[in-house]
This record gives sequence, C-alpha cells and structure tokens, in this order.
Amino acid sequence: MDDYDVIIVGASIAGCTAATAYGRAGLRVALLERHRSPQAHKTLCGHFVLGGTHDVLQRLDFWQPMVTHGAAVTTGLGMWTEQGWIAPQPDSAVPPAISLRRSKLDPLLREIAGATPGVELMQGHRVVDLLQDHAGGVRGVVTENGEAGHTEFRARLVVGADGHHSTVAQLAQVPEDRAPNERFLFWTYYEGATMNGPGDGQVWPLGRDVAICIRVDDGLTQVGVFPAKDRLPEFTAERQAAFDRFVGHLPDGPSLAGARRVSNLIGTTDYPCIRRDPAPRPGLALIGDAATASDPVPAVGCGWAFRSAAWLADATAESLAQGRDLHRALRVYRRAHRFIDAYDTLGRREALARPPGPLQRAVRAAAVSDPYISRRLAVFAMRAAPPSVLLNPKVMIRAAVASRAPKPRGMQRTRPADHDGVPSRGPGRRRTE
Ligand SMILES: Cc1cc2nc3c(=O)[nH]c(=O)nc-3n(C[C@H](O)[C@H](O)[C@H](O)COP(=O)(O)OP(=O)(O)OC[C@H]3O[C@@H](n4cnc5c(N)ncnc54)[C@H](O)[C@@H]3O)c2cc1C
Repeated sequence: MDDYDVIIVGASIAGCTAATAYGRAGLRVALLERHRSPQAHKTLCGHFVLGGTHDVLQRLDFWQPMVTHGAAVTTGLGMWTEQGWIAPQPDSAVPPAISLRRSKLDPLLREIAGATPGVELMQGHRVVDLLQDHAGGVRGVVTENGEAGHTEFRARLVVGADGHHSTVAQLAQVPEDRAPNERFLFWTYYEGATMNGPGDGQVWPLGRDVAICIRVDDGLTQVGVFPAKDRLPEFTAERQAAFDRFVGHLPDGPSLAGARRVSNLIGTTDYPCIRRDPAPRPGLALIGDAATASDPVPAVGCGWAFRSAAWLADATAESLAQGRDLHRALRVYRRAHRFIDAYDTLGRREALARPPGPLQRAVRAAAVSDPYISRRLAVFAMRAAPPSVLLNPKVMIRAAVASRAPKPRGMQRTRPADHDGVPSRGPGRRRTE
C-alpha cells in the first residue's frame, strides 16, 4: 500500500498548484519542500504572469487571493516600435496579466495548498534519492530532514516540481536539452514612477536589447532591462550607472526623476534555457521549470509552472483516483505540454538576441495601425493561444502588405534609431537624474 497517491517535490508555483488541484480531486498528496520557512520564496524572478494563465488562476481560485494580497493586474501592454507605439485595444478580449512579488506569492500559494484537504505539506524535507522498481519505474522518494534523518515516501506518481536544476530529474537520469541565452537581465522597483507610454505597462524591443516597465504590487513600478551580452562589459564596470543610462534613453520611458528606488538591482548574467521530457519515466512527471526553464525575457516561466501543473492534474487525477494504469494519462499530459514546447522553441530562437527579421519587423509595423494584427500579437505575447494565432500565412501576408503601405501622418517613430533599430545611446532625454 502506498502512503500517498502523489508525491510532489517542491512547494513553489508548480508544486503548490499541482497539490491544490490533486487535493481538490480527493487524492492523498505529500508536498515536500526543502526550505523550512513558510516565507521561503524565489528571489530571481520577475513574477509577471502572462494573461494566458488567467483561466487556470481563476479555476483554481488563486486569482482573487492574489488580488487581495495586492497584486497588480495589467490589462494591456504598449509595445514600442520604430513606427510608433502599438497601443493595447480596449475591446481586445486579451486576458489580463497579473504581478505579485514572489515574497508574497510563494507563501500565499503554500498556504492555499497546505490548507487543502488531502494535502500534507512537509517543509524541511530535501529529496535526496528516488525509490525505483526493477522495470525503471519511479515508486517514491527519500528525503533528508536535518536531525530527523532520512524518510521514505511511496506513491503511484512522483512529480518533480523542483525547479530548473531539478534534483528529481537528475536522480532519474532524465536527459536535458540546453540552449544558450545571449541576453542578461537586471531590474529594480520604484515608488512614485510615472509611465509615459500607452497601456498599463510597456515593452521596448530595441533591436537586440529589450526593456520593460510593469506595475507590481504595493503600487510599485518594475523597470527591467534585457541587453544582449555584448553590453555585459558596460554593466560589469558600473552596473547601476549602465542601468540608469539604458533606462534614461528609452523612447517615452518612465519618468523617474521624483521616484524612489526601493530595491537593489536584481538579475543574472547567464540563464540558459533547459528542457526535459515532462513524462520521462513510468511513475514520474515533471512540471514547471523542472520540465521547461525558458528564456525570462517573454516572462513565461511562472505561467508555464501554473499551467503545466494544472494540465498534469487534469490528465492524471481520475486514473490515480480509480487505481488505473498511468501510462495513457501521462501521454495525455505530454501532449498538453506541447503548447509550451512550441513556444519554447520560438523562445530559444529569440534568446539568441538576433536583430528582428523582416517578418517580425513587418508584423510590429503593421500592428501599429491594424487592430486585427495588434490583437493577435497581444494574444501571442500573453500566450493565450497557440503560436499559430500570429504565425500563420494570413497574418503574415496581411502584415507584409500593411507594413509597405504609406503611413498616415502622425505615425512616425517617436525617436531616432540607429541602423539596427536600437535607439541612439548618445546623450538624450534622461529621466533618471
Ligand atoms: C531572472 C528571472 C526572471 C524571471 N521572470 C519571470 C517573469 O517575469 N514571469 C514569469 O512568468 N517567469 C519568470 N521567470 C521564471 C520563473 O521564475 C520560473 O519559471 C518559476 O519560478 C518556475 O516555478 P517552479 O515552481 O517550476 O520552480 P521554482 O519556483 O524554482 O520552485 C522550485 C521549488 O522546489 C524546491 N526544491 C528544489 N529542490 C528540492 C529538493 N531536492 N527537495 C525538495 N524541494 C526542492 C525549491 O526550494 C522551490 O521551492 C524568471 C526567471 C528568472 C531566472
């Protein structure tokens, strides 16, 4: 007799989501987390959860508690282009995004999961080994819990929700597919910043570099830069000054003159993309970053963690409850995960930080004046439909034609750009002083 129906390793976004869903399906769940503190949280995360996750957050009753804890809801992002701003369409039906810093989000999710009947949240349990049968199936885990020593847990399904370094995947010898990321990133939070672009947040795809400005909880504004790695020496020499310079030169960038910076710069200089089979062995599934750790630039990871966890529970809960073989259910999960795989393939190309190609440029240029294309671009950016919502022949032809049409007056670019589409880095209007 197994101790539990499911063992979930890692009580962060993916783990808490899966535990909540399984608990509500009436299953016995062990949710194991290496950190002892209920306040433990991931620090290296921009926590902007794309609108494509809205349905799952609503369905699991996470959305309202997040809002109650102060989350900022973003209904539309403006995107800067050389031809002008792509402003969000008020009637676009693009689902809203949400942002709650991880210092609040992670404890909240743990509280919800831990209070779900059937879920036993055990903190201070670091998984150090797997229990396996002769056929290579995973049957349980071994944890190390300080002075209490080692404990064995058995279940029909073990779920690795233990992040991009996934100990569970390593112990199960799951091959990993790595791809380089040619950008680095830093962000910080401001109190009293004013946005100057359209929408309730802005994105600047600037040739090879990217920048963002987003509202987060507590009325703060997050400003982030994602430069190509050839600018790393500039940031290594004087990080804060390089950051301020970058932000100060953003066309229609935020006004920071009267604002107060309330955190240090947070970020990393290298974050490769990692992908693993989400259902790699009998009795084993991977969710969240353990399955796919994507490029942080399009802000997909938290959404993938919520969604892959929900999809796994959808695919397997009934088979687990009825004691049926899990093979088919795990195949269903792997199929659902293809949604993420498709975007991750595109994301890996984007992570090479190459200048935008002609079609990408045409789509952005056309979206400035064509609501049909801008809506599809927004749905794509929010990961609210498969990539074909934008990447299909009809949209591409329409974009190519529209981008060649003469521009109406008033649609000129908002700031001179160099040959690469990158705004001039020379002296200009600065807002950080
Ligand atoms: C710089 C940066 C910026 C980002 N910005 C965004 C953004 O704006 N929007 C977005 O959507 N995504 C963003 N992401 C991605 C996002 O942070 C991750 O995709 C997300 O945290 C994945 O959640 P997870 O639950 O799968 O893993 P994690 O949040 O990493 O959680 C893993 C959990 O497993 C636990 N654990 C690990 N090993 C063990 C073990 N052996 N035993 C027991 N427990 C264990 C850990 O303690 C942790 O609680 C960003 C990532 C980076 C690096």
